[in-house]
Amino acid sequence: MTSRVRPSATRQGEGMSDTWVAFMGLGTMGRPMAERLVAAGYRLAVYDPLPEALDALAAVGAQAAPSARKAVTGARVVITMLPDGPHVREALTGPEGVLQEMSPGSTLIDMSTIDPPTSKELAGLARRHGVRMLDAPVSGSSAGAVDGTLTVMVGGDAGVLAELRPLLSVLGRNVVHCGDHGAGVSVKLANQIVAGTSMVAVAESYALAQSLGIDPRLLFDVVSASSGDCWALRTRPPVPGVLGTSPADDGFRPGFRGALMRKDLDLALATAEAHAVNLPVTSRARELYAQLTGKGLDDRDFSAVFTLLAGEGPGTRPPRR
Ligand code: NAD
Repeated sequence: MTSRVRPSATRQGEGMSDTWVAFMGLGTMGRPMAERLVAAGYRLAVYDPLPEALDALAAVGAQAAPSARKAVTGARVVITMLPDGPHVREALTGPEGVLQEMSPGSTLIDMSTIDPPTSKELAGLARRHGVRMLDAPVSGSSAGAVDGTLTVMVGGDAGVLAELRPLLSVLGRNVVHCGDHGAGVSVKLANQIVAGTSMVAVAESYALAQSLGIDPRLLFDVVSASSGDCWALRTRPPVPGVLGTSPADDGFRPGFRGALMRKDLDLALATAEAHAVNLPVTSRARELYAQLTGKGLDDRDFSAVFTLLAGEGPGTRPPRR
């Protein structure tokens, strides 16, 4: 993947760019985010177990660390952008965990989407090591990570956020304090309920319209100017040839993987269960995303959920792998 960082990033991070930052997790999101921080002038040490991810960041001026612990040594800020709660826990507190290596007074910003209880527990463990923590998951997909237009949902101390807002503003256009530890990931899960279920609704709308012989572009134009307008429709009409830029135009290349949407809805449902809240539509949507796994499609964009509903009519081209 080649990501292009806009030069305007340099101005946004003014005032903090002599800060040593360690960045762990250089995948779909982490790599362009780390690249933006380098472009903004931050001194970055990076770590990912995948050598090609490290090489890509070294090529733009980051220091590729041989281990996670080496990456965080001396860093004032450590950012984690990892798949799920167990990965974050392992990275921080496992046999090679970095928490004990972090300097007292430094700050851990976990930008992964994980469950609120794990996030709160890790904030408590960090505090015991003298490390401040923010949960700061994001929304905006890989395009938002490249452009620095993510929404960043922050849980933790407002004063710590105020201090680190210049850095987070390099990554996101909307950096919002949501409350105490765990509030950022809680808001993120609430967002994922809307994103995940509305994508299924858009897919159902296209499946029906297709079977009725309605032109897919006409459907997009009418619904996006009507009460059915939503982000899922505007970014991901699930048939090719509508926008030319939708994942459906490129064999459902992500974007945001179906496996991650299933994971996020799992987290939302587990959280809801713990609080005795019934989420029937989310539950059904989660089942559909799980079916993508059964069909070997969970590494495709989550809009591939359409292929579970549609017949073999025009626009249901099998995904390219
Ligand atoms: P990804 O799977 O593409 O990347 C994760 C990276 O973490 C991989 O490169 C992996 O090698 C690395 N990694 C795993 N364990 C590690 C460790 N111990 N130390 C260092 N690196 C490690 O995932 P992603 O799409 O970048 O998503 C990251 C997080 O952001 C997830 O929680 C996801 O739900 C969330 N998110 C993703 C998107 C998106 O569009 N992809 C959008 C918003 C939020």
